[in-house]
Amino acid sequence: MKAEIIAVGSELLTPDRLDTNSLFLTEELNKLGIEVVRKTIVGDNRELLAEAFRDALERVPLILASGGLGPTEDDLTRETVAELLHRKLILNEAILKYIEGRFRQLGREMPGVNVRQAMVPEGAEVLDNPRGSAPGLWLEDKGRCVALLPGPPRELKPMYQEQVLPRLEKRRSGVRMFHRELRVAGMGESALEQRIKPIYTRYPGVHTTILAAPGEIQIHLRTWTDDAMQAQQTLDEIVQSFELALTDRIYSKDGSSMEEVIAQLLRTNQATISAAESCTGGLLAERLTSIAGSSSYFLGGVVCYSNDLKTSWASVPAELIQSKGAVSSEVAKALADGIRRSVGSTLGVGITGIAGPGGGSEEKPVGTVHIALSHAGGVKERGVRFPGDREAVRWHASQLALDMVRLHFLYNGGEPPTEGAKRS
Ligand code: AMP
Ligand code: MG
Repeated sequence: MKAEIIAVGSELLTPDRLDTNSLFLTEELNKLGIEVVRKTIVGDNRELLAEAFRDALERVPLILASGGLGPTEDDLTRETVAELLHRKLILNEAILKYIEGRFRQLGREMPGVNVRQAMVPEGAEVLDNPRGSAPGLWLEDKGRCVALLPGPPRELKPMYQEQVLPRLEKRRSGVRMFHRELRVAGMGESALEQRIKPIYTRYPGVHTTILAAPGEIQIHLRTWTDDAMQAQQTLDEIVQSFELALTDRIYSKDGSSMEEVIAQLLRTNQATISAAESCTGGLLAERLTSIAGSSSYFLGGVVCYSNDLKTSWASVPAELIQSKGAVSSEVAKALADGIRRSVGSTLGVGITGIAGPGGGSEEKPVGTVHIALSHAGGVKERGVRFPGDREAVRWHASQLALDMVRLHFLYNGGEPPTEGAKRS
């Protein structure tokens, strides 16, 4: 089944407010195998609102709307939909009593405008709202269903769960959505597309979305069917083909984040880690410690921005900084080695680079970063030039550092094969 969502409210068209209700509703509808094919955000304007509902009613059998059920002049959803479906608005005494009661509890008299919230379109079912004054409405018309829900998320969510969901479940077919999420690091969007396009185009029944985020790419696979076995089999097949095409670039097959993957690897390998960070200013430590229970593997680290502190806190020889420069492969390695030895961790990470916008030179342009990973068997180092602004460079650097830890475990401490090592 296909559905549309209409989010009503002029505030949603300003830079101050975001329509989050539709994200919640989409996730919930997807669970039932209902696909959201369009979302409309419309201000508190009678003509525009009528147009939005009229168009949606022509396209889909299910519309969920949020907002515009309040008592004031600009709350027009109830009236507009009633008019569109040629339903009279009838005063519902029970709702009126309920609203009056709410005001009385607060020691106040109900203002006259609130009577509007007790007006129910002929034939509509009332969706009680114990958390607010505006009840929701459920309307059926020529095989189409329309749910009008209040705008505040704390009222909308329970109303959906308690009163809309059971109604939808009664109508659902056996069709469900099946979803997989893969995450890829160290590869550009176009390079990835080139490798996987020949695969996913062979499966027209599966919808593939490629989402580029800083330092990683997410691949979403979605298919809608009533045949669970077939769906799982098809998705498995695609994932296997992606694995062949992307080799070690896939770091997660269940949607978990890089931090979670690294946490899991460190735990299962009973390894500990420390970090000496310059240009990332503690970002790596922040990401490593964002996972609950990180004290079992993250021992600590230093932010050694100045050359002096690189020497006194991470034991980088002053002569090395002098001769090679603070941003160099040699200093990154010395940072990683130094912090690992002084902390006594299994692994040590060193990061030094130029995040910009100033500080670049011809030889070492902005974005130049050296990252080293020290372990008992030696030290690995990567020198990279990241694109983007200061924030992007720092994020990329932390991401590559985490990815180096991942590859270290993937190849049991050895080097990745050349193909996998060719990273953009
Ligand atoms: P309303 O039912 O139109 O009176 O909405 C009341 C309040 O709910 C608004 O002031 C917003 O703060 C919130 N709200 C309305 N629509 C949304 C939405 N789509 N997503 C998140 N919050 C919303
Ligand atoms: Mg509103």
